[in-house]
Amino acid sequence: KELLVKESDYVYVLPKGTVQGQKVPVYFYLSDKLFELLEEDAIKQAANASTLPGVEGAIYVMPDVHVGYGFPVGGVMATRLEDGIISPGSIGYDINCGVRLIATNLRAEDIVPVRKQLMERILQEVPAGVGSTGKIKLSRSELREVAVKGARWAVERGFGFEEDLEHIESFGALPNADPSYVSTDAFDRGSDELGTVGSGNHFVEVQVVDEIYDQEIAKKLGLDVGQVCIMVHSGSRGFGHQVCVDYLRIARESLKRYNIDLPDMQLACMPINSEEGQAYFKAMNSAANYAFANRQILGFITADTIRKFLRISWQELGYRLIYDLAHNIGKVEIHKGKKLLVHRKGATRAFPPYNPEVPPAYRDIGQPVLIPGDIGRYSFLLVGQPRSMEISFGSACHGAGRVMSRTKAKEFVKKEGLEKILKDLVVVARGKGTIMEEIPQAYKDVSEVVRVVDALGIAKMVLRLRPVGTLKG
Ligand code: 5GP
Ligand code: MN
Ligand code: MN
Repeated sequence: KELLVKESDYVYVLPKGTVQGQKVPVYFYLSDKLFELLEEDAIKQAANASTLPGVEGAIYVMPDVHVGYGFPVGGVMATRLEDGIISPGSIGYDINCGVRLIATNLRAEDIVPVRKQLMERILQEVPAGVGSTGKIKLSRSELREVAVKGARWAVERGFGFEEDLEHIESFGALPNADPSYVSTDAFDRGSDELGTVGSGNHFVEVQVVDEIYDQEIAKKLGLDVGQVCIMVHSGSRGFGHQVCVDYLRIARESLKRYNIDLPDMQLACMPINSEEGQAYFKAMNSAANYAFANRQILGFITADTIRKFLRISWQELGYRLIYDLAHNIGKVEIHKGKKLLVHRKGATRAFPPYNPEVPPAYRDIGQPVLIPGDIGRYSFLLVGQPRSMEISFGSACHGAGRVMSRTKAKEFVKKEGLEKILKDLVVVARGKGTIMEEIPQAYKDVSEVVRVVDALGIAKMVLRLRPVGTLKG
């Protein structure tokens, strides 16, 4: 920590040349308060990544940073296509873990009085929990189709609407997917997990717009105080996890062949231009598409459950997908004129207005940036700003980030008592253990995190959402 230099408000830098073999500086975007919470190991992990072959520009670390596998959660790294590497650990085990926000025409008063019963119903209808399986059983060929078509596959099967696709990052399907590079193990694990939330940090949450910071943009998004929304946080389940496991092993085995020297084996990687690197890229995109389909199904069945519970039509419900984004992904993008592979791990894309990748509906306001907080306090919607293209490869934070380990959170609950902590929150889950690990106190205050990206001009705060009820894995 002593090696970090405070460059300006919210900007700390580990200058190039501080650690051996460092190729680029490392920027940490933090307030003073969040700097206090910064872990030594997270600094070390980001510094390690700055020595990798073909790393370009700088490593950027977001204010929700915490230690991850090899590369910190909240980290952004770009590598050159010609001589750079691709690192599975810097994308994460949960490939295309991400967030979706759906707006409805419902008002808080329609939901709040019945929220307990509603959440129980959602618990019945939406599969969640460790290794939970869904109602959809996929053959190998169907799963291949999911891995290529992504969210479109789900829409074609009746889970959602054609318009949804326009409001998903990369239209819900990454083009470089080739499931022939995905192992049989991954296929086996993925065959019955589509349309399931997963465990722990993943959730389906009914929320209400609570406070608006930018009226004009909120209006363009069609969102107003008191309006009910649905937020979904999930990823590629066992399918993506297995892809990561498989290619971490392949990466480790190929290090010698490509003369790659690593400060930490968890950063095992492959040249992008190698056979192994290309195979991982195609498998990773397949898993990403699985995740897009997964959130498409989850959002739709949650909305359908609310609709049936209230005995109203789709029209009365007013289902409208605001946006869906990835926060664990590697993408080829052009930055400052160079084609790069941008690794985002626990980091969200935050493209500014008029970027061609921003959906037409949002072209003049910028890409929606969805930032979940925790089960008790709030979550935020921001929009991407031009500075993100200058200082973070078009990226922002992805959440609040943990401050307590799962074990610590459980101890805290045992001391304080779950009832006292949750008070009047409505949280449903298959197991009580998850809720104990996911108490609000286990996370940083997300408002402090989004304040930093807003102040830096990476993304602009538009509105805040408060939870009405949460389904946890
Ligand atoms: P991750 O992708 O790192 O697992 O989680 C992303 C973020 O989601 C966390 O940093 C945390 O701020 C947020 N989060 C985790 N659980 C919940 C939840 O149940 N509700 C809300 N609104 N946010 C959550
Ligand atoms: Mn996630
Ligand atoms: Mn995840």
